[in-house]
Amino acid sequence: MNKVMVVTGGSRGIGAAISRMAAVTGYAVAINYHARADEADNLARDINEQGGTALAIKADISDSVQVKALFEEVKSKLGVPSVLINNAGITGKICRFDEVDAETMNSVIGINTMGTLYCSQEAVKLMSSKHGGSGGSIVTVSSIAARLGSPGEYVWYAASKAAVDAMTIGLAKEVGGEGIRVNAVSPGIIDTEIHASGGEPGRVDRIAPVIPIKRAGTTQEIANAVLWLCSDQASYCNGAILDCSGGR
Ligand code: NAP
Repeated sequence: MNKVMVVTGGSRGIGAAISRMAAVTGYAVAINYHARADEADNLARDINEQGGTALAIKADISDSVQVKALFEEVKSKLGVPSVLINNAGITGKICRFDEVDAETMNSVIGINTMGTLYCSQEAVKLMSSKHGGSGGSIVTVSSIAARLGSPGEYVWYAASKAAVDAMTIGLAKEVGGEGIRVNAVSPGIIDTEIHASGGEPGRVDRIAPVIPIKRAGTTQEIANAVLWLCSDQASYCNGAILDCSGGR
């Protein structure tokens, strides 16, 4: 099987840790990004200089046409992917549900939910034995927000993640017999820029004391869980949603 991995939002935060670890594990990595080309290009250069193989590819995953083009480019430049990591995600600004605007909810659902559905569909078309593919693995970076609901912060984001959990369960059952395992990792609070983007740079420090483990998680801790789920060591995991949240 080709060791080619597509990591959406693979340029920063959790995605960057996944991209780096995948390269060390022997995958050729397609680092998808949307806006910050410098971050993606620097990471790809770094991986390539260290002897790995990485390619930065711009695509807004909320746009199905751009997602198709992303997979075409991966196929032609790196080979048919055997692993898709649905990682790209945004929260929108923290606020009460009755204050959030439609544009924010649309973009969060568009990226987190539709983007995950679009990318997973392209991956299934390439990986499924039903379509002549050699199988593979899809891992989605969800969130424990899907079960906590994020009241007062971003209920719409929680809803966008609950949808991808449902996709994980259903798609695992649909394509499990076609050589594809579909799983998810649900992080708790991880120290990345996503909290500042949501308007509360100090969110990690505010919430850390109520986490049973008493600290935020690291991007590497999530990458460890993601890489394990797509490895042969997790060969009997299909449809699993693995909490990685310090017990929250
Ligand atoms: P982050 O540091 O803000 O990074 C987000 C990544 O997504 C960037 O690479 C960004 O690319 C990319 N992205 C954003 N919009 C995109 C689009 N339309 N198309 C393609 N890529 C896009 O976020 P993070 O904290 O690492 O989060 C990664 C995932 O983990 C998300 O799904 C998030 O919901 C989930 N998660 C995070 C936490 C946490 O506490 N950090 C907790 C639970 C779940 P650009 O740089 O080009 O914008």
